[in-house]
Amino acid sequence: MTPSKILADFDPEIAHVLTHKKYESEHILSLLEKERLTYEDFFALVSPSAESFLPQLAARAQSLTLSHFGRTKQLYTPLYLSNVCINQCVYCGFQVKLQIPPITLNEKEIVDNYRYLSAQGFGHILLLTGESPRFAGVDYIERAIILAKHFFPYVSLEVFPVSTSDYERYAAAGANGITLYQETYNKVLYSTLHPKGPKSDYFFRLEGPERALLAGFRQVGLGTLLGLTDWRLDGALLGLHAYLLQRTYWQASIQVSFPRIQPISAAPHDIFPVSDKALAQLICAFRLFLPQAGLTLSTRESTDLRNKLIHLGISHISAGSNTRPGGYTRGSIEPGQFETQDNRSLSDVMNMLIDQGFDPILKDWSTLFDSALKTS
Ligand code: SF4
Repeated sequence: MTPSKILADFDPEIAHVLTHKKYESEHILSLLEKERLTYEDFFALVSPSAESFLPQLAARAQSLTLSHFGRTKQLYTPLYLSNVCINQCVYCGFQVKLQIPPITLNEKEIVDNYRYLSAQGFGHILLLTGESPRFAGVDYIERAIILAKHFFPYVSLEVFPVSTSDYERYAAAGANGITLYQETYNKVLYSTLHPKGPKSDYFFRLEGPERALLAGFRQVGLGTLLGLTDWRLDGALLGLHAYLLQRTYWQASIQVSFPRIQPISAAPHDIFPVSDKALAQLICAFRLFLPQAGLTLSTRESTDLRNKLIHLGISHISAGSNTRPGGYTRGSIEPGQFETQDNRSLSDVMNMLIDQGFDPILKDWSTLFDSALKTS
C-alpha cells in the first residue's frame, strides 16, 4: 500500500482518541528520552497531557535541531506569479476579497522580480500560483522554472497538484522541490471547504507529493492550514503523512510547514484558534518525531514569535516576503493572499539570526549533492 492509501484508510477516530486521551506524566517524560518515536508516541506528544511539559519538549527539540542542522537556518523568499484561480476555497484571501484584480505576471515581470530578489542575495525562491490552466498552467509554470534557474540555484514550487508526467516536466526544467498543503485531513470538512474546482478531489491532492517523488523530486513539503479544525487531529495526521512518506522514500527530504489561518483569509466558516503555545507544542513534537525533517515557518507569524520559534525546531524561514503577484517590483496596492506579520527585510532577518548565534544560509547546497548523486 502506498503512503496515501494507508493515510486515506486510516481511521481518524484512532488519531482523535490518541491525541486527546490522558497520559501519565511518566509516559510523556519517557518519550523525551526515547531514541526513535512511533506515530503513537507522536500523537501523545500533541495531546493536552504533554502541554505542561512544553519546557522539556522545547529543550529536547532544541538539542535535536542543533544535532541535525547545527546553527544553520535556511532562508527563502516566495514569489506569487498569478492570483487567478478556478478553485473556490472558502478561506482564501484571493477568493474572499472579490475586488482583487486578476494578475498573472508576464515573462518580463517574472524576470524583473527574479533579478530583484537575486540581487538581494536569495538563492532559494518559492514560486506560487493559483490554479488556472488557462492563465498559469503547466507550460507557464515550466517556463517560469526555466527562467528562475538563471537566477537561483534552488527553485521550489507551491502550485496545484499535477500528474506524474507533468511533475517530470517541472523536474526536467530544473525545479528542486514542491510544497503541497493538504489543508485538512478531515475528508468531510475538506469537501465543505473546497466545494468546486479540481481541488475538490481530496485524494488527487493527497497523492500529489508521491507523484512528485516518483517524478524525480527529492524534496517535498507538507502542511495543513492550522485553524480549519482541531489542530491536534490535523497535526497528528500531518505527522503520520510525513512519516509514511519518509519511510517509503527514505532518500527524500520531507519538510513540514505550520501556516495558521489569518483573519484576512477568514470567510464565513468556523475557525479553531491555535494559540502560540499550541503552535510551539506542535513544532516541538514534530522535531522529536522526525528529527531530520525540515520545519518551516513563514512570515505569517509575528516577528516576536519567529524570533522565539527558531530556537526550537524550525530550520527554514522565509524573509522579506510579499504575497501580491510580482509585488517586489510592481508596487502593487491590492491585497495579497494573506498579510505578512513579519515585514523585516532580508538583511534585518539575517542580522537577527547572526545576533542570536545562528548561521543564515541563502543557498541550499543540497542541490550539489543531488547532482553528484545523479552523475555517480
Ligand atoms: S487557496 Fe489557492 S487553490 Fe484555493 S482558491 Fe485560493 S489560490 Fe485557489
